[in-house]
Amino acid sequence: MIEVIAFDADDTLWHNESLFQETQARLTAILDRYAPHAEVEARLAETERRNIKLFGYGIKGFTLSMVETAIEISGRRIGAEEIHEIVMMGKAMLDAPLDLMEGVEQVLGELKRRHRLLLITKGDLLDQTNKVERSGLAGHFEAVEIVTEKDSTTYRAIFSRLGYAPEIAVMVGNSLPSDVLPMLEIGGHAVHIPYRVTAVFERHEAEIAHERFHALDSLRDLPDLLRRLHRI
Ligand SMILES: [Mg+2]
Repeated sequence: MIEVIAFDADDTLWHNESLFQETQARLTAILDRYAPHAEVEARLAETERRNIKLFGYGIKGFTLSMVETAIEISGRRIGAEEIHEIVMMGKAMLDAPLDLMEGVEQVLGELKRRHRLLLITKGDLLDQTNKVERSGLAGHFEAVEIVTEKDSTTYRAIFSRLGYAPEIAVMVGNSLPSDVLPMLEIGGHAVHIPYRVTAVFERHEAEIAHERFHALDSLRDLPDLLRRLHRI
């Protein structure tokens, strides 16, 4: 029986990656005269990947990576005005309105009648805390966990601290490497709900076949899936 449902936040409960994609498109426009768009995108992805170990996930690190990319790709010719514009783009991202996925409140409201709900998100502490607050969803969760990396060690520590066996828990999220694979590894269940765009560092090529793995098109289908699992 599944008693505990843990949710990822970004691109699972609310839109997030689309904001990064829009900002990246603006960066390619700013750097248009220095390099083709595809080259800017590739360099930014490479810089982000390299910087994640130092900056962690989140908008502040992304902003610094955009600045670094702009300086490098322009051969250090980029002007202060353009750097300023890039920094302002990052600040606008931190301030952007939070756009909840369709049906989130309804689904959480329904599920919390029979299950304990957790929120497990990775990223910048301040940034993620603000988003949880702005979402108005915090009241649905028994615990909100903001972590720097979502791997099996992190999940094991969270469930052990809260006193839940992973076997009675399911993790629901849009990322295979962060939400699904580590949860299966520690003996839990996982539901993958893909988002329309996936960050470069969240991509996973292989197909997953596992008895505790389920894939859904929409969060709205989650209550039905849980009912089916309980009947088995
Ligand atoms: Mg996510």
